Amino acid sequence: MTSAIRISSDHVEGGFKWVKKPDCCQQLKNAFEERFIFVASMVDGEEPNDYNLVYIMPLDDTGEPVRKKGIAISHCPWCGTGISVRKKI
Ligand SMILES: [Zn+2]
Repeated sequence: MTSAIRISSDHVEGGFKWVKKPDCCQQLKNAFEERFIFVASMVDGEEPNDYNLVYIMPLDDTGEPVRKKGIAISHCPWCGTGISVRKKI
């Protein structure tokens, strides 16, 4: 089964409420606010309290996504901490 990750409004900070905010470093917080990192609705795990998958979406010079799928990331690109965020559904 393939499930393409596409940006939808509830993947963008402001389109959802946090249950658990990103808190490892300020750069990561900024990356969500600046719409550089997005939060998928998919959850990494089976428990209701597990964390949402996060991904980045490379854009071309017109702002269109270069790929159909985002690139999931599991660790903060700045400080290396495992990303653990949860949004309210
Ligand atoms: Zn960090």
